[in-house]
Amino acid sequence: MKLDYNKIGFKCGIEIHQQLDTHKLFCACPSVIRDEKPDFVVERRMRAVAGEMGAVDPAALHEFLKNRRLYYETYTDTNCLVELDEEPPHPLNEQALSTALTVTLMLSSKPVSEIQVMRKTVIDGSNTSGFQRTILVGLGGVIETSLGDVGISSICLEEDAARIIEDKGDVVTFRLDRLGIPLIEVATDPDIKSPEHAREVAEKIGMMLRATGKVKRGLGTIRQDINVSIRGGERIEAKGVQDLRAIPKLCENEVRRQMGLIEIKKELFRRKVKPEDFEAKQGESKVKNLHENFQEVTACFSDDDRAFIQKSIRAGKKFLGMRLPGFAGLLGRELMPDHRFGTELSHVVKATTGLRGIIHSDEKPNGCVSEKLCCGLKDAWVVVIVEASVDATPAFFKIQERLQKAFFGVPEETRRADGEKTVYMRPLPGSDRMYPETDEPLINTQNLVHELKGSLPKLPEGERRDYEKMGLSPEMANQLVNSPSAKVFTVFVKEFPKLPPTLIAQTLLSTPKEAKKRYGSHIENLTLDHFKGILSLVAGGSITKDVIVEVIRNLSETPEKTASDVVSEKKFGSLSGEKISKIIDSVYEENSGVESVNKLLGLVMAKAGGRANPSEVRKIIEYKKLF
Ligand SMILES: [Zn+2]
Repeated sequence: MKLDYNKIGFKCGIEIHQQLDTHKLFCACPSVIRDEKPDFVVERRMRAVAGEMGAVDPAALHEFLKNRRLYYETYTDTNCLVELDEEPPHPLNEQALSTALTVTLMLSSKPVSEIQVMRKTVIDGSNTSGFQRTILVGLGGVIETSLGDVGISSICLEEDAARIIEDKGDVVTFRLDRLGIPLIEVATDPDIKSPEHAREVAEKIGMMLRATGKVKRGLGTIRQDINVSIRGGERIEAKGVQDLRAIPKLCENEVRRQMGLIEIKKELFRRKVKPEDFEAKQGESKVKNLHENFQEVTACFSDDDRAFIQKSIRAGKKFLGMRLPGFAGLLGRELMPDHRFGTELSHVVKATTGLRGIIHSDEKPNGCVSEKLCCGLKDAWVVVIVEASVDATPAFFKIQERLQKAFFGVPEETRRADGEKTVYMRPLPGSDRMYPETDEPLINTQNLVHELKGSLPKLPEGERRDYEKMGLSPEMANQLVNSPSAKVFTVFVKEFPKLPPTLIAQTLLSTPKEAKKRYGSHIENLTLDHFKGILSLVAGGSITKDVIVEVIRNLSETPEKTASDVVSEKKFGSLSGEKISKIIDSVYEENSGVESVNKLLGLVMAKAGGRANPSEVRKIIEYKKLF
């Protein structure tokens, strides 16, 4: 079924995080990601400090942090005491600030006149300091798209988090190579109209960021968070989308998930099931408090032939079951064809308690379990499989909590992108608790903004139009806008005014690809000097454009040579007039009776191996025909 996004009240905004190609934001360490063994590892524990945690429940936070050990892998030559939080941050990276302001101006956003570094609390250990430093740089702004303008809400500069290497629940290992790399965060308003539109907006902003020439390229250097909701749903933040191509499907899947949850809410209402059925009230018996009312049902599974079940039984694990009043048929695919409610439960349990192994009645009925848990026809059950020594109460508590939220449809939460789907991560935090970074001075931006205004990079749209005006095809113009060769192209166009810009673009972009395709050439060996050499040989008439691909092939095999070395060694140079005349004579002799100029031209060119200028040859043939 195709969705009408307008009709279902689709709302979407995105946040783009792009790493900048400069040193770290608050120290001079290089922004490099490394794979070698780290030089040393630091162990840390975190402690909650009252007053800085905002909306976070301090008791729960304390519990969360108590048993966690954090390891930070460090390199002596590319990390320093700032990343380890053993030394105050150094002054803000000016290059990063000027790039962020440039982006602000390019998006017609209003630059903040006085920069104030802020601290944003993070408790997952991804920053050694317990907070992330973030700086608001611009407010407002707009980006043009095929479906109208999309508003920009803010532009921030922030430090990237440490990279997670291993997460064992109570022991988490991070690497400090990524911590502190400057990131620009561009957040749009919720003006995006469809999943395809979301992709377009992300693409446009990405192109604009690249137009500054100051951003990192490659996988992992740009990440997007996508906020999606529909009418009757809630705002869901899907974090960490790395592949633009996944955006439309991810949005669609998230919309379908929300639609399913809304259906479940309606069905619960029809069934007259109430949230109170899932909680204990004061003075009532504890029996109603579901999460404390689970029972062991291991024996009921002795005949279940599913391999993982038999494996768990052999491993001595316990099967603990809980009745879900009124939920019969709601955990499976009936109302949520693309994403089962049962999956929601197991994601929540896994993310909050680390426990895996949740099964439920809609996957495979089990009369023994139903009987043991006193399930009526309208009830469902859920079973958690745990090691014999593990207390499953927290898992059942989380299940109960999630079931209660089902009565309200879509719970507000932070999810993470997992391919084209989203997976539960944590509840949506309250509005970010921020407080000033007292180790950093305020910075007045007015002079810098004034200076930057005079030399803004061209927006990709304008650049593309300029290329087309020079005669490039729309495809080639598009390719060039997205290519690192764009700058070189502009330089070469000025340097070789005699050469058609299309030929220059082809030499830089498509001809190397052709050499790679035809001969498997290692075109990454080619240097700017090689290209310059080739173009000057063509401009000077020493070679024709037909041999460029051969010159490129030879240069990538012997990159230490120059273009003119290769041309003279391999005899790619244009043939002298005398030689061409001789070839023409021999073609005439062998093909007496052929009248067509084009046919003769083809024969001559084939014999000359691309080393003759076709228009010159044509002139000679036409001249000869007169006699
Ligand atoms: Zn450092």
